[in-house]
Amino acid sequence: MLPVGNSKYILKVNKKKILNLIYNSQLISRAEATKKSGISAPTVSRIVDSLIKDGLVQEIGMGKSTGGRCPRMLKMADTENYIIGIDLGTTNIYGILADLNARIIYEEKRPTKLEEGFYKIMDQTAEIMEILIDKAEQKNKRLCGVGLAVAGLINKQRNIVEFSPNFHWHDVDIIGYLGKRFDLPIFFDNVTRVMALGELCYGIGKKYKNFIFVNIGYGIGAGIILNGHPLLGAVGMAGEFGHITVEKDSKIQCDCGNFGCLEALASGRGIARAAQLELEKGTQSILLGMCGGDIQKITAEMVANAAKKGDILAWNIFRQAAEYIGIGISALINLFNPEAIVLGGGVIQAGEILFDNVRKTINARSLNRTSRGIPLLPPTFKLKAAAVGAVALVMDKLLDLELEDFLKKGK
Ligand SMILES: [Zn+2]
Repeated sequence: MLPVGNSKYILKVNKKKILNLIYNSQLISRAEATKKSGISAPTVSRIVDSLIKDGLVQEIGMGKSTGGRCPRMLKMADTENYIIGIDLGTTNIYGILADLNARIIYEEKRPTKLEEGFYKIMDQTAEIMEILIDKAEQKNKRLCGVGLAVAGLINKQRNIVEFSPNFHWHDVDIIGYLGKRFDLPIFFDNVTRVMALGELCYGIGKKYKNFIFVNIGYGIGAGIILNGHPLLGAVGMAGEFGHITVEKDSKIQCDCGNFGCLEALASGRGIARAAQLELEKGTQSILLGMCGGDIQKITAEMVANAAKKGDILAWNIFRQAAEYIGIGISALINLFNPEAIVLGGGVIQAGEILFDNVRKTINARSLNRTSRGIPLLPPTFKLKAAAVGAVALVMDKLLDLELEDFLKKGK
């Protein structure tokens, strides 16, 4: 006979196993769940009953008949439970209300009042949350939690954003602020890792369990998925891909203080800055006309458009940025041996110019044939990658039974 504490633990492990089995199978009978889990039939039955009582699993009367009566099938109560996912961006705060399949039910967006600081941005986030909570109530669905995708260094031990150069935040406590206003489980993580989690849960994770989401936008980051789990590092700061040095003698300083970081040279800002520096030197380009003579107004998007029109300066800047990105990704491939790389973020909108040149560099620098043929994929959820990922952040906790107490309380 096992001690009580131990049997409680085993029950939780088994419950998690059954819940994940139901989630991954989409439809499964009690008999199949018993067979696949290797857990005894009475225990499976007891666990299934409690999952139904928790409102996480439904039993429906269908499935293949084996001669007798139709077996009843189990499925996730995926349309009865909702999750809020918020992409806390520097340009927009974008929130979605979604079901457990990440099907978007309602969305709400506000331009971020970046200059007004942390508390104003939290108020804006709270406003969006209130609207989405209302929508869930109107539809009479249960809200399981809120996920937030945030750009910056997240300290998992202290549960704070330690540093966000994009927002100019130091040691801010998102949960401390929003947690006081809402009686809901709230989680946040670094935006790129969140995007990777979104792919794992709802996108390419169905095919690959080892992949890296490389996000090239305002900054550069990597969400690393190994054996079906995100790599966090000691305190949650793994994946700061933008701050690897790719040009040791570079004169270009990064926001982090170092010189020659990938982010300083190949992010959206890096590309715009490279164009500005060249124009200041007097290099000819159609960019000068595109920005109306004010080179401070040049954006990465403008450089991409000029490159597409055949502008040599713009094309060279993109080719150079792509080469830096390719060098960085080759290092990731050689280190982690992923099955695929997802290339996302605003800069990727430049399309083929970037993809082709990144691919060329990877082929030239990767060690073996498998790496050279590695799929380089666009993000499944495109511009919604962060919001869908934020939903996945809560889904992950739900499948891990971390929300059990909250869900029980709400009944
Ligand atoms: Zn840096």
